[in-house]
Amino acid sequence: MSTDVNVKMDALAGADPDALPLQVKDLHVEFRTRNGVAHAVNGVSFDLRAGETRAILGESGCGKSVTAQAIMGILDTPPGYITGGEVLYRGVDLLKLPESERRKVRANRIAMIFQDALSALNPVFTVGFQLAELFRKHRGMSRKDSKARAVELLDLVKIPAAKQRVNDYPHQFSGGMRQRVMIAMALALDPEVLIADEPTTALDVTVQAQIMTLLAELQRERNMGLVLITHDMGVVADVADRISVMYAGRVIEEAGVEDIYASPAHPYTKGLLESIPRLDLKGHELSAIKGLPPMLTNIPPGCAFNPRCRYAQEVCRKDPAPPLYQVSSSRTAACHFWKEVKGDE
Ligand code: SF4
Repeated sequence: MSTDVNVKMDALAGADPDALPLQVKDLHVEFRTRNGVAHAVNGVSFDLRAGETRAILGESGCGKSVTAQAIMGILDTPPGYITGGEVLYRGVDLLKLPESERRKVRANRIAMIFQDALSALNPVFTVGFQLAELFRKHRGMSRKDSKARAVELLDLVKIPAAKQRVNDYPHQFSGGMRQRVMIAMALALDPEVLIADEPTTALDVTVQAQIMTLLAELQRERNMGLVLITHDMGVVADVADRISVMYAGRVIEEAGVEDIYASPAHPYTKGLLESIPRLDLKGHELSAIKGLPPMLTNIPPGCAFNPRCRYAQEVCRKDPAPPLYQVSSSRTAACHFWKEVKGDE
């Protein structure tokens, strides 16, 4: 019996092939620090279908990377603790699995690409060794066969002269090529879900575009669900199907990409869109959202965005925080005044 089958039998005995590959329900994560409890993720929910790209968008510190770490089961505990919610892979709650079982899911079903490929790769082993190790450990393949698979993977992510480069160390690759190696490692075991955490942040614009095109191609070919974590609305516009906009640990707007770009329903989303440089508005001053995101140890009462919001009124400063209002059958926004923001009133 192959290792792959064992994974299905052990960790995922109750997995339902008809259920979604990933559902996050009311996830809560906090960091217990000397300076108090930082409420990093406060009730995040979203679904991901096979072949769909879900962007999770927001400024640094809004909880998007912590959400990814909680899904992957790689949160540093302490100080980080998951205090509520569910992370479902085909109906199985990963948060209830023991670590030994989660490790198998992580490698085989849900994979992740990190922002900084140089620190994610081991500097003392060749990229070929690191790729081949996945096949040896998880598929029980021989040294020779696993190396051949490593070359195939480098080819797949379009690294020229893959046969030779498989023997190179991470520092011998450019930033863009290292990110391709990371993608190869993430895809090695054919995951159904890929989480890409700011995969192009450290790269220049041309290489960014190449990496995003490659990711989109591979996703299409494999019908893989992609969670793209980013602060870059330009990247999102090109590749995402649906967007969850996060602020202070909450999803404050959730919609299809066209809806969000055509008529944002939350002032924060609107602010992000207005801060994108536009070629047709040459000479105009770039708009920015005033102020800073709140400290997660001290989130303001009411709507967390109220100190920065140009639409804020008295009700916005009072608890409870605005719920996610149903803007249409397929979109929600956590703003009491979403109709005004969207331009419906
Ligand atoms: Fe602004 Fe109030 Fe809407 Fe919050 S609820 S985004 S403060 S208008």
